[in-house]
Amino acid sequence: MLRFFLVFFGVCAFTFSFAQKAKKFKRKELALIDEKFPNQSFRIFTIDNKKDSVFLRKKAKRVNLEKNKSQVNYFSKRLLRTVRDPKNMGVGIAAPQVGLRRQIILVQRFDKTNEPYEIYINPIIRSYSEEQKSGEEACLSIPNYSAEVFRPINIILEYLDINGKKHIEEVSGFTSVIFQHEIDHLNGILFTDHLNSE
Ligand SMILES: [Zn+2]
Repeated sequence: MLRFFLVFFGVCAFTFSFAQKAKKFKRKELALIDEKFPNQSFRIFTIDNKKDSVFLRKKAKRVNLEKNKSQVNYFSKRLLRTVRDPKNMGVGIAAPQVGLRRQIILVQRFDKTNEPYEIYINPIIRSYSEEQKSGEEACLSIPNYSAEVFRPINIILEYLDINGKKHIEEVSGFTSVIFQHEIDHLNGILFTDHLNSE
């Protein structure tokens, strides 16, 4: 019996570590990122399109940065071009909003000098402050709509930078709201989902 349990736990541990391993981009994902379109914006998925709205509700998968570093780099450039497009300027964007179901977000750091846009890979919020504040939010995927949302003021964030280095960081204020909004997208959550929970 003991041997059975050891084998059982061994299988579980193996399955768990396997599930944790991020897979490299598939052909369809590489086609979307496509390097034939240097510096071009992506089309933004919006909830008024039925197919897009189904896609926006799916969970994003982790990125294998070791195997896809150059593609992530290239994708990030096009993502930046998309969020800074004068047609639809934003302060943040998540990869699923342009059709890539992967854990990549771009956030404008209002808490840093010159307010740069930065890319975050496999970001996770480790903890939230109890104190909350309400602020007006809008989303590139929900055109012509904004509303007040209550969110925790501080978060502890864990992520990889573009070089694969792991960081743990405390973020507060408006920048923390952007991180929460974008990481919600990676879990298929839209800011409108928070409106009736008060
Ligand atoms: Zn959004």
